[in-house]
This record gives sequence, structure tokens and C-alpha cells, in this order.
Amino acid sequence: MPSNLLRCTLGLMLLCCGLASGLQGAEPGKLLAGTGKVDITDYSAGPVADPMYVKAIVIKDDSQTAVLISVDAVAIGEIGRINGDYLPTTRKRLEAELNIPPTSVLVNASHCHGVILPDITDHTVQAAKQAVDQLTPVTIGAGRGSEDRIMENRRLKLKSGKEVDVRHAYSLPPDEEIAGVAETDPEIGVVRLNRENGETLAVIYNFACHPIQGVPSGANTADIIGYSSKVIEDNLSDGTLAMFLQGCAGDINPAYYKDVDHPRSAEPLGNLLGLSTLKAVRQIECKADDRLEIMNESLTLPRSDLADRIAELDAEEKLLLSKLRGTTLNFKTFMALTVKYKLSPEFPSHYSHRYFYDEAQDRADLKTLDAQNKRAMQAYLQNIFIMEQLTRLQTNRALLKKHQQQMVDSGKRTIDVELVGLRIGDFVLVTFPGELTSPIGMNIKKKSPHDLTFVAGYTNGYIYYCPTVEQMQNRGGAQEDSDCLLAPQWQAMFETKAAEMLGRL
Ligand SMILES: [Zn+2]
Repeated sequence: MPSNLLRCTLGLMLLCCGLASGLQGAEPGKLLAGTGKVDITDYSAGPVADPMYVKAIVIKDDSQTAVLISVDAVAIGEIGRINGDYLPTTRKRLEAELNIPPTSVLVNASHCHGVILPDITDHTVQAAKQAVDQLTPVTIGAGRGSEDRIMENRRLKLKSGKEVDVRHAYSLPPDEEIAGVAETDPEIGVVRLNRENGETLAVIYNFACHPIQGVPSGANTADIIGYSSKVIEDNLSDGTLAMFLQGCAGDINPAYYKDVDHPRSAEPLGNLLGLSTLKAVRQIECKADDRLEIMNESLTLPRSDLADRIAELDAEEKLLLSKLRGTTLNFKTFMALTVKYKLSPEFPSHYSHRYFYDEAQDRADLKTLDAQNKRAMQAYLQNIFIMEQLTRLQTNRALLKKHQQQMVDSGKRTIDVELVGLRIGDFVLVTFPGELTSPIGMNIKKKSPHDLTFVAGYTNGYIYYCPTVEQMQNRGGAQEDSDCLLAPQWQAMFETKAAEMLGRL
């Protein structure tokens, strides 16, 4: 027997065994579901705060199988440890070993920045096998929760009309330049899967936030999502699997992301998300419901030619450099003067009596010195603000240059992406392989004919940040509009396609 045929036969046998055990006692009109979970932490990469996992949920009806996989990783391909071969190889193996069609597979990255093993294909297949082996009849239900305490929109509107984003990669502009903040989406989409005896088998939850807060020790971590999933799993029936599907988090940061006064910790944020999800889980009543649909579509999107914008940024850089002015101060003298002039704005350079004495003699020596120092401090500060602007410009221009080079190398002005549409009972989801920003998710939800519609980015591939047309007008000013290869028309194309898929779900 040829080896691939043998593998296929073994796979079918395995699948049948799983199905046979799962089908026992199943009532008509019920779905079957099973879960699997495998540790993918790279323990050789240094201290570990909490483990990263690949998790699988297999859901079946009479005719279809949906395989949902979540990985605690930054992305499916392009950046981080998961390379471009992972998704096709995993699919091939799931097809050969478990008879699962490639179009039935959805893989979402939580976007945590933890360090995982260099190759997690085996672990992923193992998690899916665990799930297939444990298929059992389930009742299902869906609902929504809310959480608005753990995140903030990272794009800040400036009085100039431009926008900047909150990153560790560069400084924020002075407070006086900030005009306002943008919205966040507090909604948590929740699916609850119960065993026939009423115990929870799994919870699937969808929410939008970059899980990049880290832990105080700096150790390797699955971040907010590791903690939220643990809270959910620890507080439901033994063996419950909590699967997180990252939403439209492109412009959403953890709250207090740039805090320098307290150790930054993902744990309280994750605990809050977990508790808010549990609150929603407890309100969901599970019932027999066999509505399951998974569809896989492709879409060709236009890439931007970024050459003109890069040239504009080059010109802006020249202008900024020309504004740097000579000043008598350096950092040491500037800091010392700043303390004195803040402590005593009226008499910064000596005790007040000396100012009074000067005045009585009709002299203004100290006041003249103060005026000179204030001008010098202002000039030095201006240089610092220009340096901060240059830092932001250079960081974002490097991203534009990277994507421009990739477009030139690809020889194409388009990029193909894969979208998944999923229905589990009342829960409806569309996915996209990039960092969608929050307005896109909220647009799709608003226009959907289904009450419980949710959107997951970071799924089945990775094409970097995908901001709105409006956000793209700020190109070069923030990461989301710079770490981006798409042309503005992409937004309408995706939203139209998503609406069309939702119509069919
Ligand atoms: Zn990101």
C-alpha cells in the first residue's frame, strides 16, 4: 500500500473511532464537539511566567466539520516564529490524518508576543487529534459580554489634524498637541458548548485588544489572553477549554500601556476580561441546535504604491533637521535649570531677597539671567521635540519602505487573502488575515443581518495592519497606517465581501 494511502486509511480509521465514540447517545439535531490543547512554549528561551498553547475545537454536524484552532502567537506567518509553511502544512496533515478538508480549518493568532517553539505543526495536529478523539454531543448557546476597562484606542488625534499612536518604539508628542482619543469596541462575543450532562465543554470568546502588556518580571507570557483563558477555565466545569479568537485589535492597546510608574502587568487585565466573559457565559442557555456552517473565500486586494509618500517624508525630515538650532545648554544643564525654574518660577536663580536687593539698587541682573536661561531652555526643548518627531518619522518611514520593497519584489500590485465565514448556532463570525482596526469590526457588526455577529483578524495568514481609508490618510504618522501594504480601496472591498458572506451564513 503506498504510504500516503496508508496514512489516509489510518486517518479515516482514527476519525471513525472518534466519531463512533462521540456519536454514542447523540440525539438528532445536536452537534458533536471535542477539544484539544497542547503547550507550545519555548522553555529554552528563558524564564516563563505562563504557558502558551495551541488549542483546537472540532465541531461536527452530519455533513460538515469545522476545526477552530487558536495559537498564542503573534501571527500566522510573516512575523514571529510561525512561518509561511505552517498553515498549508498543517492543513495537508489534517486532511491526510483526520480527513478534514483544508477549507474547514480556521487558525487564529492571539497576537501575544510570547516566544513559542520554532515549529508547532506537530503540536497543532496533536491538538486537533485530541479534539477528534473526544467528540461528544453538545448543546450550544451564544451571547455577548462587555469589557471597557482593560484597553484604550492607541491612535491619538492631534490638533494639527494628524494622528499619532501610542508605542514603546517612540515618544508621544507634548500633551498640548493632543486633541482627543478614538473609540474602542467593548463587546465580547461568546459561544458556550455544553456536554449533555450540562457541564461546560468549551467557551469560545472574541474580543479586540493587543495582548502586549507583559508581566513585571519580563518573563515569557501569553499575556492578557493567557490570564483571561485561565480564569474562564478555572471557574467552569473541569476540563473546560477557553478558546480566544482575537478581534479587530489593530488600533487597540492595553490600558496604561506606557505606564512608567508601576510594573506593567497583563494579569489584572486578563482577569477582568476573563470575569466579564464568565458573566456572559453564565447568562447563556444552551440548547440542542445543529446549525453549523463554515465557508472559505478568497479576495484579491490592491496594494499601495508608497513611493510618493516616502518622498514626502524624506522632505519632511529635511525640514525638521533644518529647524534644529544651536543652544548653550546640554542635557545636564537643561535638567538642572528645569528643576530650579519649576521649583520657584519667580525667583529661580537665588533667594528672593537678592532679587529685592537688585531692584532697590535699580539693577536687574538676576532677572536678565533668568530671561536668557528661559530662552535657552525653550530652544533646547524645541530641539527635543524635533528629535521626537524625527524618531517617529524614521520608524514609520522604515515600515513604508519595507512594504514598498516587498511590493517591488513581488512584481504584483495585488495581494490575495483568505476569509472564513462561520456559524455556530446564533454565533456568526467573519475572519481576515490582518490587523483590522476597530472601526472596521464595528462597521461589519452594525451592517450585519445577524444579531450576534463578530469579526476576527489575525486569522489564516497575516498581511500586517489594515486600517480604514480615513486612518490611511495619516500614512507615515502611526504604525497602523505605515505598517500597511494595502491601498485605500481595500476597506470597501472587504466590507462588501464580508456583508455578502454574512448574508449567506
Ligand atoms: Zn499588532
